[in-house]
Amino acid sequence: MHSEALLDGNKVFREKKVKKLQDKLVDLADNGQNPKALFIGCCDSRVVPNLMTSTDPGDLFITRNIGNFVPPYNPNAEYLATASAIEYAVSALKVKDIIVCGHSHCGAIEGLYTADQLDNEKFIHVKKWLKLGERAKKYVEENISEKADFREKLDMTEKMSAVFQLDNLLTYPAVKEAVEAGELTLSAWHYDIKSAKVEYYDKDRGEFIEAK
Ligand SMILES: [Zn+2]
Repeated sequence: MHSEALLDGNKVFREKKVKKLQDKLVDLADNGQNPKALFIGCCDSRVVPNLMTSTDPGDLFITRNIGNFVPPYNPNAEYLATASAIEYAVSALKVKDIIVCGHSHCGAIEGLYTADQLDNEKFIHVKKWLKLGERAKKYVEENISEKADFREKLDMTEKMSAVFQLDNLLTYPAVKEAVEAGELTLSAWHYDIKSAKVEYYDKDRGEFIEAK
């Protein structure tokens, strides 16, 4: 799809959908946004946050990165897009939910197991970024059944990585404070790109459960 086609798509969007949303869009422009959730998703083109949750403009504050990772709090690091989005969502927008959404067939998670292919200057940033998935990979290698095939290994890594990113979220003082005050809930999801179904992590049961 070329950029001209995308501009045509914007025309279709304006003609077909914006009419229904007109009042909401004017309100959002005049009165500002007030999203209730921060959605941390993968850049993958098959994972489309607003589409998969039937949400409209103004509903979700979204940050996407390769692998839906959360870098641990580090005020000395430079130019951190994900950290800035977390900070703004929690301290300015006061979102009530943060969702870290992993997904099936995630190239970043697969990349954890094929990292030797990234030994190339062209992937200098990606290779470093994928370190944020190492904890999940290590966990899976220590805990998965020997009979599990590679696809099962990837599935478990996608899921455990989303769960471990919640621990990284708690390293942000503002996140920890809001969670402890009962004002913020953290969730880990796993989205299946074939069926479009979401499974969410149930902390008490220690497993992922299919959403109804
Ligand atoms: Zn992905």
